[in-house]
This record gives sequence, structure tokens and C-alpha cells, in this order.
Amino acid sequence: FRYGEASEVVVPTPNGDVYIGEQHPIVVVAGPCSVENEEMIVETAKRVKAAGAKFLRGGAYKPRTSPYAFQGYGESALDLLAAAREATGLGIITELMDAADLPALSRVADVIQIGARNMQNFALLKKVGAQDKPVLLKRGMSATIDEWLMAAEYILAAGNPNVILCERGIRTFDSKYARNTLDLSVIPVLRSLTHLPIMIDPSHGTGKSEYVPSMAFAAIAAGTDALMIEVHPNPARALSDGPQSLTPDGFDRLAHEMSVIGKVV
Ligand code: PEP
Ligand code: MN
Repeated sequence: FRYGEASEVVVPTPNGDVYIGEQHPIVVVAGPCSVENEEMIVETAKRVKAAGAKFLRGGAYKPRTSPYAFQGYGESALDLLAAAREATGLGIITELMDAADLPALSRVADVIQIGARNMQNFALLKKVGAQDKPVLLKRGMSATIDEWLMAAEYILAAGNPNVILCERGIRTFDSKYARNTLDLSVIPVLRSLTHLPIMIDPSHGTGKSEYVPSMAFAAIAAGTDALMIEVHPNPARALSDGPQSLTPDGFDRLAHEMSVIGKVV
């Protein structure tokens, strides 16, 4: 790679190849925090697809702070993601926490997510580096940009060039008002340091659905390549991350407003 030359990640999905990178329209990933049942995941997939999302997100294996919190439905949730993929043709993004789950997860995932809490799980990074699916690498909640880029380097060095960096907010001193501090300055900073595509996650970045649209617009203004937005059919009853989830109607409005600004198709 030459300095200043952006790379793109091309993801084959049933609906066709999706290109993620500076030279392409902004790609939107949407869906619930966790896959809860077939009806909710398939319905959400249909709604976010109609609004313009190119990928459905949804966790089967959930990295929860408390061991007593909902941990995700695991392998059975992967089957539900497969059903949503089949019904809509959307690409699937879902989190891998344990290398032992890689074969099952790879059967449904078009992009493998490594979550903030595993950003420096080097054994896991080497494993996803040694397979073919693109990897979405979230920034650790207290990781410096150099640590994040070195984590990405583990995947690249193991042979997988298809890495997307996702900013999801860093540890804040003021959690009274926002779950994290969404560090949008990483967009110009990363542009000067790396060729890798950039995604912004305003849902985890703020923790509150009412702040998600403004941060999505801000990320677009700052030049993001992609956005990840949590959407749940009934946020009040979500098994995880309800407070930060948009309803399908709310996502629809946001997607419309983003398309008016342009850059998002
Ligand atoms: C998620 O995407 O639902 C998630 C757990 O994200 P993070 O790793 O950024 O907390
Ligand atoms: Mn979540």
C-alpha cells in the first residue's frame, strides 16, 4: 500500500458484492444487539433492508459485563441469522468470542465481528487472521489508536487483508449522560495512519437512542465509510442494549435523512 491510498473491503453477500471503503458510498449495518427469536430477527432484517441497510447485525454470543446477564442464544441464534439472510439476502455480521465457534459462525457470517472486549485477544485475532471472512475489529473501550492498529496488524499479519476498524466509544468519565465518549476524531486520525476502512457505531458510542442520529450525521460529516446502528422492534423489551436501540420506524427516518444528505445509498 502507498501512503494515502485507501483499501476497500469487498464482501460477497446474497444480494451482491458490498464494497466498504473511502471510494464507495457509506455502508449501513443495522439490527438488534442480540438475536432473540426468529420473528424479531427476520422482521428486523426486512425493515432495515427496506430502509437501505446492506448488512444485518445481531449477536448470538454476547460479551456481557455480568455473567448473570443474558449471554446470547449461541448456536441456535446462528440458525436464526441464517433464516434472516435467506429471507432478505442481507450480509450477516455477528460476533465471535471463542475460536471454537468459528466453524459454525462462518457458515452464516459474511463478516466476523471481534468485539471491544476482545480487541487484544491475540489468540483470537490470529485465528480470524488465518481464515477468509472479512473481520470487523471494534476498538477496545480503553485502547489507544496505536494499540487498535496493532491489533488489526495481528489479523493482517496472519494473512487476512480484509479488516474494517469500528469505533464504538471509549471509556468516559461522565457516564451520567452517555455510556461512552464516541471518538469521532479517529476518522481523520485513522485516515492519516492507515488504509483500512472505518466504521462508526453511534449506538454503543452513546448508549442512548435519542443521541444516535446526531452522531450518525456527525460521523458522515467527518468522512466515515460505514455505520453500525442497533435496531430492535421493541427496544423496551430488548434482552440487551434496548436503551440505545432505534425502532424500525426510527431507523427508517434516520436512513431517509441520511440519504437526503447523500453519500449513503
Ligand atoms: C455489540 O456490537 O453488540 C457489542 C457488544 O459491541 P462492543 O464490543 O463494541 O461493546
Ligand atoms: Mn449491543
